[in-house]
Amino acid sequence: MRFEIVTIFPGFFAGFFEHGIVRRAQTEGLVTVGVHDLRTFTHDRHRTVDDRPFGGGEGMVLKPEPIAEALEAMEVRAKGARASGNGTRVILLSAQGRPFTQAVARELATLERVVLLCGRYEGVDERINQLYCDMELSIGDYVLSGGELAAAVVLDATMRLIPGVLGNEASGEFESFGVADAAITSGQEGVPRSQHGAGGLLDYPHYTRPAEFAGVRAPEVLMNGDHLQIRRWRREQQLRKTLENRPDLLEGAALSEEDRRVLKSIREESAS
Ligand code: SAM
Repeated sequence: MRFEIVTIFPGFFAGFFEHGIVRRAQTEGLVTVGVHDLRTFTHDRHRTVDDRPFGGGEGMVLKPEPIAEALEAMEVRAKGARASGNGTRVILLSAQGRPFTQAVARELATLERVVLLCGRYEGVDERINQLYCDMELSIGDYVLSGGELAAAVVLDATMRLIPGVLGNEASGEFESFGVADAAITSGQEGVPRSQHGAGGLLDYPHYTRPAEFAGVRAPEVLMNGDHLQIRRWRREQQLRKTLENRPDLLEGAALSEEDRRVLKSIREESAS
């Protein structure tokens, strides 16, 4: 898979690409990344990428010509002239975009090429969106000063879902927001067989040595070697955490009868 990033701050990504999974995915040839300096596609002495907004108002707007030229240089045609299903998607990072979620990351991870356009100032001339972009993506309900952080977030979350990038193939599926569903992963006891079976829920809390830290002991159940008890405890923790922090996720989660029973008792416990 290839990512192309169009930005006025190419240096921003240098450190990001040098660490962890993002680096390994590239050195192992599973992913390639091209960072394109928007100023390369300007033709004036000042390498101007922005201009004042039509209609007046605050700030500056990224001009359409350099972005269009950058896209043409990487052989990305306007939407109307692009063959459908060629595996390339052009994404505009924007606070006005649809929310970027794990489901969107899963969708992107199946593509051959993802082009990420980073806005700055007041944003990008809307005709770029209209003519070239397949989707606008927002990483959250807040305004960043540029699309670079958002592009890094999209790239990181997508990259780790590409087969082979994570050491353990299952780990992308069995973590927060994972798709593994309880019906598939449940053993006869009604507890997911996988240690990480997230089923659309948040992950459970993790602990490591020492067994006691700052006077707080790690849960005994994790140290007694009873794997069914451990899985049961972890599933309950997933349900608790999701109920507490993201109750909206419970709507779409794959819940077993046992899960519903546990949820009911957690709710009763907190009501009393
Ligand atoms: N005028 C814009 C608005 O009110 O929606 C904000 C522009 S922002 C200062 C500059 C650039 O940062 C945007 O063009 C976009 O690329 C990026 N950006 C800001 N917030 C973002 C978010 N939540 N998700 C993705 N990109 C964002």
